[in-house]
Amino acid sequence: MFVGSRVRTTKILYLESSKVAYKKRGCLMPAKKSRKVLVTGATGQIGSELTVELRKMYGGDNVVAVGHSRKPSDALLNSGPFESLDVGDRQSLEKVVKKYGVDTVYHLAAVLSATGEQNPQLAWNLNMGSLYNVLEIAREQKLDRVFWPSSIAAFGPTSPRANTPQETVLIPSTMYGVTKVAGELLCNYYFVKFDVDVRGLRYPGIISSEVLPGGGTTDYAVAIFYEAIKEKHYVCFVREDTVLPMMYMPDCIKATVDLMEAEPARVKRHDSYNLAGMSFSAGQLAAEIKKYIPEFRCEYEPDFRQKIADSWPMSIDDSVARRDWGWKPAYDLAAMTKDMVQRLSKRFKEGKL
Ligand code: NAD
Repeated sequence: MFVGSRVRTTKILYLESSKVAYKKRGCLMPAKKSRKVLVTGATGQIGSELTVELRKMYGGDNVVAVGHSRKPSDALLNSGPFESLDVGDRQSLEKVVKKYGVDTVYHLAAVLSATGEQNPQLAWNLNMGSLYNVLEIAREQKLDRVFWPSSIAAFGPTSPRANTPQETVLIPSTMYGVTKVAGELLCNYYFVKFDVDVRGLRYPGIISSEVLPGGGTTDYAVAIFYEAIKEKHYVCFVREDTVLPMMYMPDCIKATVDLMEAEPARVKRHDSYNLAGMSFSAGQLAAEIKKYIPEFRCEYEPDFRQKIADSWPMSIDDSVARRDWGWKPAYDLAAMTKDMVQRLSKRFKEGKL
């Protein structure tokens, strides 16, 4: 009884002092245990796996998946609510937010780098228009928290390419990168001006085994596994010596959830945090795959995406994320390759690849 009441009193004191600290910093309330979540881009490479993970955390009914043109998987449709809408249409988005009483948005829908260079007008309109819609809804509906991913594409040819720091020159040469820099500034503005607790990560290239990526410059690092297993041969669209920062999906999801659940006092940036997993060249990746599939051959025929890759960092300094909210990746090139080959080989043998 005595111990119980002491614990309770300590908890109340802690909560009260936290509230004061959060108020002082212009932040909202401490992390909540239950959430009503909406994920845009839920049928995409990252959204499809993130949605499943969030449904495990908060319960299927509490996580609304929002898709658009891509067909949702059965897993996505059967594990919780699904809505189809255009994120450029603010009224439809707002209607869904109100319908489900959403308090937290993960806004992942976007046009990626390679598609964005083919259609820069679409990239600007969709990426900026939809982020503006989400931030305005968050401001008006007083949402608790918003997640929006930036990218290593926010850097450009004049940024340092090795161990690229958190604070540096941001002059990207792609429209996708322009939308990421402008998006970071807009997120920070909404935090400072309107107290919208928006949080972001500069994702590196994401490697995953479930859903194929949708038009990015690092897509080769996923396609190479599928082709190595199915055809024992892959024609890579960047040079063998092209080094880019990458991350395995479990680390990407962990970083995203950890940042979103971090106490407000630990989140000191509301533009976007640098985030690193591993860095390797296309040739090093092919050599690692060859350890499991010795007959695998990789050829290199660089196309327009080489120029984009050459303008991006080779490795990222994520020490600020590590210091602020304790980020630490689990997967390196060897561990990621082993897991990818095992998972995709199993699906291939089952005739599901
Ligand atoms: P993806 O291309 O796989 O998925 C994007 C999703 O957005 C698609 O499912 C698509 O249906 C949806 N979408 C497109 N237009 C829409 C519209 N008008 N209305 C509603 N939905 C629409 O992308 P991803 O790889 O999952 O990336 C998610 C986020 O992470 C993006 O913001 C991207 O810039 C960022 N990011 C991804 C990577 C990566 O390697 N995958 C790296 C850095 C940053």
